[in-house]
Amino acid sequence: MKDRIIGHLTHGRPGPLIILIGGLHGNEIEGIRATERVFEQLKNYTINGEVIGLRGNLAAIAEQRRYLAYDLNRCWTEAHLRFLRADTIKHSKPEDQEAIALLEVIDHYAEQSFSTKIIADLHTTSAQKGSFVIVPEYYADHPIVEALHIPIVVNMEYFLKGTLLNYSCDRGFISFAFEGGQIGSSDAIDLHEAGVWSMLLEAGAIEDAPKSLKEDRASYLQQLASGLPSRVTAKSMHVVHEGAKFSMNDGYFNFKPVQKGEVLAQDKDGPIVSPQDGLIFMPLYQKEGSDGFFIVDLQE
Ligand SMILES: [Zn+2]
Repeated sequence: MKDRIIGHLTHGRPGPLIILIGGLHGNEIEGIRATERVFEQLKNYTINGEVIGLRGNLAAIAEQRRYLAYDLNRCWTEAHLRFLRADTIKHSKPEDQEAIALLEVIDHYAEQSFSTKIIADLHTTSAQKGSFVIVPEYYADHPIVEALHIPIVVNMEYFLKGTLLNYSCDRGFISFAFEGGQIGSSDAIDLHEAGVWSMLLEAGAIEDAPKSLKEDRASYLQQLASGLPSRVTAKSMHVVHEGAKFSMNDGYFNFKPVQKGEVLAQDKDGPIVSPQDGLIFMPLYQKEGSDGFFIVDLQE
């Protein structure tokens, strides 16, 4: 458990619970770096409630891979949770142990009461312009989500099953995936750091923060999001099957407009075209992962 904890602060005061998770995908370590920086500075402040920073997939982080046996952000389904909770079954895959450890934390705090309970799952993407927040529509207007000032993507739960955020929302947390930018970029660390500060300040987790800090972080985030859509809704998804030899065509990035019939990628069966007009979202530019791309549209 020691390696899993990036930081854990409470001064026994009432307030929000904020759980930050970085590296749920082991090759996306920018959220971990940002959370380490935030905890370094948080030592100087009085904390309301409790702030916890966790590393997600320790085994995959050590190998700099998205995952080893299975994706830790697609496994939070009813059936798999039953498997993880069954004492009599052997849990032999590396991700079994990772998921069980995280599940214990979530289930423990699900029973506790705080003014607000937030789980922010920090990710980075393989495509460019990857700063956005994925959240169920019923939390899209929440002040904590709006405090991030980056594009809000709703309805992804219709396409992605078994995500950590969906399980956390079911357990009563306000939970979302906060994507900070491109894998391996220092900009993504900066953006995650600013976003985490904005969340902490908006939630009232820091008793003695100077007023200017909130405005300062907000204006930094606003400036990064300029020109990006404020809210989009997921419309379709291309699933990559095992052995498909999927390869995204060059030149796509998050929120780039595409047209119906436009050739976006190739696989062993030939060209793959966009099923509709819209904006391309999360085009897959890495070998691991089964989400080829999504098409999203501006929300009316
Ligand atoms: Zn990820």
